[in-house]
Amino acid sequence: MRRLAILGSTGSIGQQTLDIARAFPNRFKVIGLAGGKNTSLLAKQVEQFQPQLVYSALNLSLPNKVKFLSMEEMASHPEVDIVVVATAGKTGLAPTLAAIRASKKIALANKEILAMAGEIVTAEANRHHAQILPIDSEHSAVWQCLRGEKAEVARLILTASGGPFYHHSLSQLANVTAEEALRHPTWRMGKKVTIDSATLMNKGLEAIEAHWLFSIPFSKIEIVIHPQSIVHSLVEFTDGSLKAQLSFPDMHLPIQYALSYPKRLPNSELPRLDLVQVNSLAFEPVNYDNFPCLKLALEAGKKGGTYPSVLCAADEVATELFLANRTSFFGIAEIVAKTISLHRGTANPALDEILGAYTWARETALKLACEESLCWKQ
Ligand code: MG
Repeated sequence: MRRLAILGSTGSIGQQTLDIARAFPNRFKVIGLAGGKNTSLLAKQVEQFQPQLVYSALNLSLPNKVKFLSMEEMASHPEVDIVVVATAGKTGLAPTLAAIRASKKIALANKEILAMAGEIVTAEANRHHAQILPIDSEHSAVWQCLRGEKAEVARLILTASGGPFYHHSLSQLANVTAEEALRHPTWRMGKKVTIDSATLMNKGLEAIEAHWLFSIPFSKIEIVIHPQSIVHSLVEFTDGSLKAQLSFPDMHLPIQYALSYPKRLPNSELPRLDLVQVNSLAFEPVNYDNFPCLKLALEAGKKGGTYPSVLCAADEVATELFLANRTSFFGIAEIVAKTISLHRGTANPALDEILGAYTWARETALKLACEESLCWKQ
């Protein structure tokens, strides 16, 4: 029996993690649930899974026997084996470090944690023998391809669906709305990740994560567009052999793999892939000119230090403005680029320097966006 704490249980990944726990009541026990603003859903989850430990960002009345803890306390609690980090933005960073220092297994879905603080997080994980189990479909695919292999990797090839606008011209892209961006062709996800998928910022963050997770230089990470989202990523080995992981685009599978690793569990509730029905698989090169956010993310990743933290914070602000119909598709990249250009980076930053850069970048991005008329007044 593996005992789970799920941080961000009311989000898309959190809810799907609970589906897996529900499907295997003899294997997984939910010990802790932590939720943000959706308190009515959190209350329902508490009623259904009866965890001992709960954290809620907002007021929530709890049954008597439930203990209210901070996310850090929950993540390092002695009764927890696996901490599922499905929070958004930088909220999950401190609890992830707490879980690492308590030598827990960490099933990681929150992109910003490795993107912002990859060096610190991976070094601490090595020091405390804490295993990081990726949940994101691309990293899960790479992880599965590397299983049983020695260090003979030539390249990692991350696939990207390209999002809803991949074949739009520059002038069409300039006019897309948040509403259109939220209609992702292959994946159902939270709003922030869906917009990041439309700008391909998401793929840039994933490249930074892959760099830290698999200790691979950026020069050996490639991105290829694969609109069907069936090949979730590939590894090329030094002899030229390629291994890929394929499955129906559904996050339940990578979540389940992280939770059950090294076992694979049969789950009849998950959709199976019918290759004959799929018929063909398409791959295309990345058009960096139309998707400047991807270029910005890769540059920030290569620069390292506090730059990825600035990237994440500026992207959050820009995406919020786009979702509120206050800036354009290319406004997102402009806000991020200008914020990064004003940043004086710190190499090998400590955690407080990473968080300081994040706060600075949020403030700067917001100020820039308004002053430079990159956003429209409401
Ligand atoms: Mg992904």
